[in-house]
Amino acid sequence: MSTRTMVAGNWKMNTTVSEGLELAKAIIDHAGRPETKVVFAPPATHLSALCALVQGKDNYFVAAQNCHQEENGAYTGEISAPVLAELGVDYVILGHSERREYAGETDDLIYPKVQKVLEHGMQPIYCCGEKLAVRDSGDHLRLVGQQVSTALFRLSADEMSRVTIAYELVWAIGTGRTASPEQAQEMHANIRNLIAEQFGPDIAARTTILYGGSVKPDNADELFGRPDVDGGLVGGASLKAADFAAIIQAA
Ligand code: PEP
Repeated sequence: MSTRTMVAGNWKMNTTVSEGLELAKAIIDHAGRPETKVVFAPPATHLSALCALVQGKDNYFVAAQNCHQEENGAYTGEISAPVLAELGVDYVILGHSERREYAGETDDLIYPKVQKVLEHGMQPIYCCGEKLAVRDSGDHLRLVGQQVSTALFRLSADEMSRVTIAYELVWAIGTGRTASPEQAQEMHANIRNLIAEQFGPDIAARTTILYGGSVKPDNADELFGRPDVDGGLVGGASLKAADFAAIIQAA
């Protein structure tokens, strides 16, 4: 079992607080004491309750789905890193494709968010990935490389060692389409090589690189079987306890 493996469930804007608690309890009942890291990323309103639920449970962690790049201030509706850290949040998803699409986030904005999350002792799960037109044009390796370098390559090596990357094919998110294991491996290996060039082979070898895009119990084994695919960031299937537990099992 590699120390890099992780399965993170991005619940997006789904479940009420009580439903979310029931879901997390059901997942824990199914998965027991997992060997892989398991991360719940519920809506922000659920974080406090979820942090209390996982406290003292080995290998269960809680992630926020976003946070603001400033420490505090007049940013109505936003949530700051110090607030998340005080709640006991372990990870923060940053740059998810839905935030890029609906909130106009770019890698230049995501970089200070990554820094802020690290400054407060939490770990970013940085999302990158290409749209279908880019994949069809054959420019996907260059584009994702550019995303990763803009958002992460101004970090120090020590900071980078605390970053998890999620490669999410935008054309596979919530669509039922999945990358082939070969497509996933090609991109993950490319990302790991870029990290090795920038930060050295040790940090590259330790970086967790998750795959995202319609991971399901019936494709998880094949995807996670590739050497550079360290687990998954899971949307739809993370809302079904039995399915998510099966994906945890596959990792
Ligand atoms: C996601 O939103 O990060 C995701 C991968 O969603 P899905 O698994 O539903 O494609």
